Amino acid sequence: MSFKLPALPYAQDALEPYISRQTLEFHYGKHHQAYVTNVNNLIVGTEFEDATLEAIIKKAEGGIFNNAAQVFNHTFYFDQFSPKPKEVPEGRLKAAIDVTFGSLDAFKEAFNKAATTLFGSGWAWLVKTADGKLAIVQTSNAGNPLRDGSTPLLTCDVWEHAYYLDKQNLRAAYIADFWKVLDWKIVDGRF
Ligand code: MN
Repeated sequence: MSFKLPALPYAQDALEPYISRQTLEFHYGKHHQAYVTNVNNLIVGTEFEDATLEAIIKKAEGGIFNNAAQVFNHTFYFDQFSPKPKEVPEGRLKAAIDVTFGSLDAFKEAFNKAATTLFGSGWAWLVKTADGKLAIVQTSNAGNPLRDGSTPLLTCDVWEHAYYLDKQNLRAAYIADFWKVLDWKIVDGRF
């Protein structure tokens, strides 16, 4: 079995001015593609040759884990954006956010803090934990909440390659624009 780079659900310039075509050309076209190519090469002849991405993420270590998780993380990240996003969550997810964090604004504030303070490369996540609660978690490098039995709902890539072309060193400015293209309809569906 080999993994393929999934198509983006929008044109590469569709998220401008918040995420540029140039950023997507490199982030999706080069970085994401490289993780797909790498994991396909690395699993040949291993116990993971016919495994699903999720199964690899839960069990593998080293390069196989890193590249498999980065394939999952980037697909999950790119799939949650839209040029015409639903701007707020609804229904059960909205209710869970209100109960857990107090309000959508309070959730965003806490998430922004997790994303801006993560040292080095990694990901900030909203997850549903194994006991069904919402939580904000940080993972370093290729880390993925599936390893801890949690279900990812939303993620922000804070590797410098996600924002340096558009925002240079201003990670907080990237995160502010991240919310402008995040489609809560996708997150509602994942919940
Ligand atoms: Mn990335």
